[in-house]
Amino acid sequence: PLEEHDRIYFQSYSHIGIHESMIKDRVRTDAYHTAIMRHQKFIEGKVVLDVGCGTGILSVFCARAGAKRVYAVDASEIATQACEIVKANNLTDQVVVIHGRVEDIDLEEKVDVIISEWMGYMLLYESMLPSVLFARDKWLKPGGLILPSHATLFMAPITNSERYEGSVDFWRDVYGIDMSALVPLAKKFTSEEPSIEIIGGENVISWPSVVKCIDCYNFTTEEFKSITAKYKVSSMMLAPIHGFGFWFEVEFNGPAESSHNFPSNLDPPEIIHKKRRRSSEDTVLLSTAPEDEPTHWHQTILYFPDPIGVKQDQIVEGSVTISQSEENPRFLNIHLECSTGGQTLVKDCAMR
Ligand code: SAH
Repeated sequence: PLEEHDRIYFQSYSHIGIHESMIKDRVRTDAYHTAIMRHQKFIEGKVVLDVGCGTGILSVFCARAGAKRVYAVDASEIATQACEIVKANNLTDQVVVIHGRVEDIDLEEKVDVIISEWMGYMLLYESMLPSVLFARDKWLKPGGLILPSHATLFMAPITNSERYEGSVDFWRDVYGIDMSALVPLAKKFTSEEPSIEIIGGENVISWPSVVKCIDCYNFTTEEFKSITAKYKVSSMMLAPIHGFGFWFEVEFNGPAESSHNFPSNLDPPEIIHKKRRRSSEDTVLLSTAPEDEPTHWHQTILYFPDPIGVKQDQIVEGSVTISQSEENPRFLNIHLECSTGGQTLVKDCAMR
């Protein structure tokens, strides 16, 4: 029997719409397909575990790449359709669909490869990564491959007057009526929950700062519970900061190359940028950054109730803590501190 929050979570994946938006996201689906083909030598004749197979698309890709066996596991009812899809594509000899939580299932053997598409908004929302780590510790052979292997969460101050004014200043003059009485409510509404929306590179006002680099070969569930990072960035322009943007990238590297050009939280921004540029040539990179092609993850924005003006080269610094909510481990609590030009802002919000 599942806990209530998991029942609701898995039920959300029984709807077709969510699978449609993931599969139609070509940036996402092509990155997985390319990564599978790039690691074909590791997959051919080998045993794969697809953690959270959904419709089974990644399992089918792996089977077509020559996997001897693929265990396609999903706790959602969508597993029923995944089973039919496997049959319709004559892959029943290779793909075994298992309807259950990866934490509860039993396999006849250990696996050579784990593949999973576990990333949520702001990377960590949904808290699916611990299930992948659980599967790694229980079912992956030593030296096995994990796809994706690395994930990096970034943040940067952003400016977005159009969006902020459209939601807040809008109320100052509505069809010639002064509705400023609504401005405080609008500020509260705009800033109280993270907003999932697409911004562009032009909205980002500094080099991004790394919040967390996750090496899926070594990361632990304990580390996942609460992540804190300090940041110190320099504004590249004179602009009002309306909040902070968050986005992520994942890489698909083999176990031997696990530290391969991987940016660390300690690297200065230009080095991170350089490492990323270099690594995109020889590893498969799935990016949800504002300067790259949009994905179904968009970016996640934490708006301030009031903008803070900054000059070019002005330092913006502080910290962020992202933790799993105690009320529901699928939710996140975010604590943000930001100081610049003598002003300090502290903001707490929840992503539900
Ligand atoms: N692999 C598919 C679906 C990814 S969405 C694709 O790429 O299109 C993530 C899926 O993981 C959802 O279908 C969800 O039900 C499943 N999932 C999440 N946590 C799980 C767990 N602990 N055990 C089994 N399935 C899980």
